[in-house]
Amino acid sequence: MNDPVSFVFAGLPSRVVFAAGAVERTAEEIRRLGRSRALVLSTPPQAADAEALAARLADVAVGCFSGARMHTPIEVTEEALSAYETSGADCVVSLGGGSTIGLGKAIAVRTGADHIAIPTTYAGSEMTDILGETAGGEKKTRRDPAILPETVIYDVNLTLGLPVSMTATSGLNAVAHAAEALYASDRNPVITMMAGEALRAMVEGLLAVVAAPRDVASRAKVQYGGWLCGVCLGGSSMSLHHKLCHVLGGSFDLPHAETHSILLPHTVGFNALAVPDLMAPLADAVGDTPGRGLHRLATSLGAPTRLEDIGFSRADIRKAAEIALRSPYANPRPFTAEDIASLLEDAFSGRTPPH
Ligand code: NAD
Repeated sequence: MNDPVSFVFAGLPSRVVFAAGAVERTAEEIRRLGRSRALVLSTPPQAADAEALAARLADVAVGCFSGARMHTPIEVTEEALSAYETSGADCVVSLGGGSTIGLGKAIAVRTGADHIAIPTTYAGSEMTDILGETAGGEKKTRRDPAILPETVIYDVNLTLGLPVSMTATSGLNAVAHAAEALYASDRNPVITMMAGEALRAMVEGLLAVVAAPRDVASRAKVQYGGWLCGVCLGGSSMSLHHKLCHVLGGSFDLPHAETHSILLPHTVGFNALAVPDLMAPLADAVGDTPGRGLHRLATSLGAPTRLEDIGFSRADIRKAAEIALRSPYANPRPFTAEDIASLLEDAFSGRTPPH
């Protein structure tokens, strides 16, 4: 552990219900918050699940809005806000991944609604007070205590059918939170401890889930690791890796989890050279240097490893580097536009990182 005598720890207060079958406790959790009229949110592909949940919630649900989209576009939020107002809802239940939970946060922060998040991926948004919203082609991120969902329900049964390809990329998205927490400028011993535990659970769990996608114990291990990764994200400031993902997602419309999966070995490998001691828990979890180990893990999981394969154009590398430098996040290793361009070039063609 580094510098244990000087840190700030600000735990984020939320209630976590973690159990197989816990989704059946949603009505009880809504009432526990003193609410009784939930609007259930989802993406279009999960609309049937949202309708089924609303039906089971019976008199504590007032309807569904199933238009959530990735990167929380402001126009979708406006449409959902209008559905929230006309339905007479007093809280939102977000059933889905980070896109749906992002929409729940966007409504909650604007209306004061309570928010019960029921994650079905490993993105971790449910444990953070962070909201990224896209307007005019740029994604802007803010933190506010009112953004943190009041209650989070983790039900492993909702993740058993998550396709293996999404399991891999979403899991690596989670790994990115714990990895960057290790060298965060505001790191502290509690989050460092959680990051180590999270990384072990994610690496072991993901390899097991890819081999047997419906194995409940392995899925629960990944969900547990994903929860801790989300706590790491909520409890620390992220660095170069998250910045680049926000740039590629917000300005080039690349898919969130895939972008994380592809960039992570390169961004973390770049930083590993500067702070190898801080990154020892990651090296232990992947059994190699962080960059090389993560690249091998991504390949073993069948995750994409080349930006070229997810619609990024080599001609945009320079522009992306410039956008990233406009408002950089703190990073343990200083960097120039050339460094970023060279890192993106490696990620573009899927080279194995040296560190
Ligand atoms: P997502 O929520 O967009 O989900 C991807 C697709 O998978 C969607 O079509 C969804 O309906 C479907 N899906 C979700 N769970 C499923 C399941 N169990 N089975 C089958 N299909 C399922 O993807 P994501 O990666 O979870 O979230 C990405 C978004 O979350 C991005 O906008 C990102 O910026 C945001 N995010 C925010 C934070 C934060 O702290 N603010 C953290 C992480 C991610």
